[in-house]
Amino acid sequence: MKITEVIPHVLIGKTAPYSTWASDFVDVRYSMVVEIRTDEGITGWGESVCHGRQPGGVSAAYINHTFKPLLTGKDPFDVEVLWENMFHTSRPFGGGGAVNAISGIDVALWDIIGKALKKPIHQLIGGAFRTKVIPYATSFYRVEGRSYPEAYIEEARELIADGFRAFKLKTGYGIRKDSEYIHAMREAIGPDMLLAADANCAYDAPLTRQLLLEVEDARLHFLEEPMKTDDLEGYKMLRNKTTTHLACGENLFTKYDFRRWIVEGAVDILQPDVCSAGGITECKKIAAMAQAYAARVIPHVWGTGIGLAAALQLIAALPSNQLSSFAEEPMLEFDRSAHPFRDAVIHDKITMEDGAVKVPVGPGIGVEINEDAVREFELRLTQ
Ligand code: MG
Repeated sequence: MKITEVIPHVLIGKTAPYSTWASDFVDVRYSMVVEIRTDEGITGWGESVCHGRQPGGVSAAYINHTFKPLLTGKDPFDVEVLWENMFHTSRPFGGGGAVNAISGIDVALWDIIGKALKKPIHQLIGGAFRTKVIPYATSFYRVEGRSYPEAYIEEARELIADGFRAFKLKTGYGIRKDSEYIHAMREAIGPDMLLAADANCAYDAPLTRQLLLEVEDARLHFLEEPMKTDDLEGYKMLRNKTTTHLACGENLFTKYDFRRWIVEGAVDILQPDVCSAGGITECKKIAAMAQAYAARVIPHVWGTGIGLAAALQLIAALPSNQLSSFAEEPMLEFDRSAHPFRDAVIHDKITMEDGAVKVPVGPGIGVEINEDAVREFELRLTQ
């Protein structure tokens, strides 16, 4: 089988409402969805996630100018060889940008392999440790004109009515406010629900220490990115200062970034994004390193249904570090914020049933692409 075409599709759509978090805002959602065609008529799809306002044209440019010529004519089954070739070719550009593009390509290559073999990706990378995954709701973005924490509590009640039992609150608004919000949420949802918080890199180490101590009684499942990931030493210093687990990973790329964090023992939970940290190929390696050091993996997910399906394929194949029948399983980050095309780009919307999300069992990433929706949201670039 030979790759004949590599086509990046930059998608964009307005969000409603305009929503914010501590360090940024979104009024549009972007994504870069990549389509790889072959001479045997099999087409694979992947996604390079766009955080916040980062436009998908960045990863599309990497594909058009650097990776497309490298991939054309090659066998998609050589996925790891192609990954290494792409990485080494783009190494002089530095870390994240190129790897974000490689991630989408890698997912599309695994989609092709799965379709050729008529197997979902999780069966190609070791099999399913679980066939359904407990999701946590990523939400609680702020909307102008609403008052907090009342609006958070109202949203939590709606999510509980939908069946959610786990939530991640947006924080980073100052220690006093964060403490108030976290305690109000814990009181509103009760002791048995899982509550995590994400500060989106809002603090330095002294403020993070203060926050960790002030909210320890609220029993956060984890505190995500309290500091920038430039500050590994800060994380390392604060880990184990309280019972709250520290988490990060959405701003880390490849086995090389994660290696330092794993070996240094800087966090309890690693959050690689399949659509940004290096695809299925690289995230399997990151997960293997994490397992060897008894670190846990809960992937970051913030893309469309394509990225969500790819993440579920990886999560299905993640072994647990705990031998208990009551082990804390890897979870699915299930973005509940406004998104104009998250569900539209796939035919079978990924949903929660009875408190869990099923791992797609169709070939490849397990879902079929709605190409009409891809065309509808596609931003036409001049290059
Ligand atoms: Mg985050």
